[in-house]
Amino acid sequence: MKSWDAIILGGGIIGLSLAISLRKQGLRVLVVERGEPGREASHAAAGMLAGSGSEIPAALKPLSEESARMYPEFVHELEDESGIKVDLREHGTILISEDGRFAEKAERFAWDQLHTLEPTLIGSEPGIPPKCGLESRQAAFLTECSVDPRALVSAALKAAKHRGVDIASGTEVRKISVEADRVSGVETDKTSYAAAIVVNCAGAWAGCIGPVRFPVKPIKGQMLAVVGGPGLKHVIRSEKVYLVPRSDGRIVIGSTLEDAGYNKQTDIGTIQRLFQAAVELVPGLAGSKQHEAWAGLRPGTPDELPILGETSLKGYFVATGHYRDGILLAPITVQVMTDLILIKAPHHNLGSFAPARFS
Ligand SMILES: Cc1cc2nc3c(=O)[nH]c(=O)nc-3n(C[C@H](O)[C@H](O)[C@H](O)COP(=O)(O)OP(=O)(O)OC[C@H]3O[C@@H](n4cnc5c(N)ncnc54)[C@H](O)[C@@H]3O)c2cc1C
Repeated sequence: MKSWDAIILGGGIIGLSLAISLRKQGLRVLVVERGEPGREASHAAAGMLAGSGSEIPAALKPLSEESARMYPEFVHELEDESGIKVDLREHGTILISEDGRFAEKAERFAWDQLHTLEPTLIGSEPGIPPKCGLESRQAAFLTECSVDPRALVSAALKAAKHRGVDIASGTEVRKISVEADRVSGVETDKTSYAAAIVVNCAGAWAGCIGPVRFPVKPIKGQMLAVVGGPGLKHVIRSEKVYLVPRSDGRIVIGSTLEDAGYNKQTDIGTIQRLFQAAVELVPGLAGSKQHEAWAGLRPGTPDELPILGETSLKGYFVATGHYRDGILLAPITVQVMTDLILIKAPHHNLGSFAPARFS
């Protein structure tokens, strides 16, 4: 049987970028992916890099803020190695709130100030006209970035191949193999692969594979993309909806949080509701055309924190449960997991993310 130093189970953004990092450290790495790499949650994401976002639990903030700082270099390296542009946009985010209560530490503006001060402070936002019936609302500005996750994951796949990572796609891992009380590889629907290190990066499916189970649950998000509306410069977020512009003119509008099992269907009513909420913020979108609608499954956990570390089975690691922020958290996840696997002490206290907290 052919063997590797490490097998990564799952070819999403977490699995692919960890594979690259381990390969850079000299390990022979195999990624085993059930479908096509990068076509699940990492394909569905909006790509906001909201390092200090209000929905991020306090225990995760140090990692999320550091990951946001690491992003430009992370992207630069992937672009360099793959030749694929991933559309890192650094124009920032405008938050809009009915009651002016922003959980984020943000620079705030009354609506009219947004339009008078904005050109000097944050650059103009052509998509939001000064008079649009929203003048009673409050606005704030955050210096956040966004990426196109589909381009990011394509770049990661190409960079991984370029680095000599082996990829077995269309191959489902059914079981983790154990020998003498430690991991010895994986069993798939077709064959077996051997390695002394296995890392479960199977996203919303990470808990389905024995023998060590994790309480990871799929949380569905529906999204749409429109084209032909007013060009937006910033990401715009309100309590009801977010709008994420891409440099090719698409605007991604999301999203829902649904406990609907592994169902990835969209429904017309929900997509229309998201679109209407977007038009309330940016009236010019009324004339845009729907380009695509889709749904993806976020890997959720009971405490909304990722699961990062070695399991009770020696050599068997897990890096999943990134829920709403897996695109943002990829660089820091790769750094701490590489340290753990190579038996270096990570710079961060990972106690809150330990797999053992659920045992
Ligand atoms: C609608 C939506 C919007 C989002 N927006 C954002 C955002 O703006 N910013 C942000 O940071 N994050 C966002 N996220 C979250 C982010 O997409 C996820 O946290 C992240 O993609 C998780 O990456 P992953 O590699 O763990 O999982 P995935 O990308 O789901 O990859 C897991 C892979 O494992 C494979 N797999 C599963 N089981 C097996 C098996 N048995 N054998 C082999 N392979 C297997 C799957 O096929 C899949 O390719 C969003 C998610 C959704 C759904």
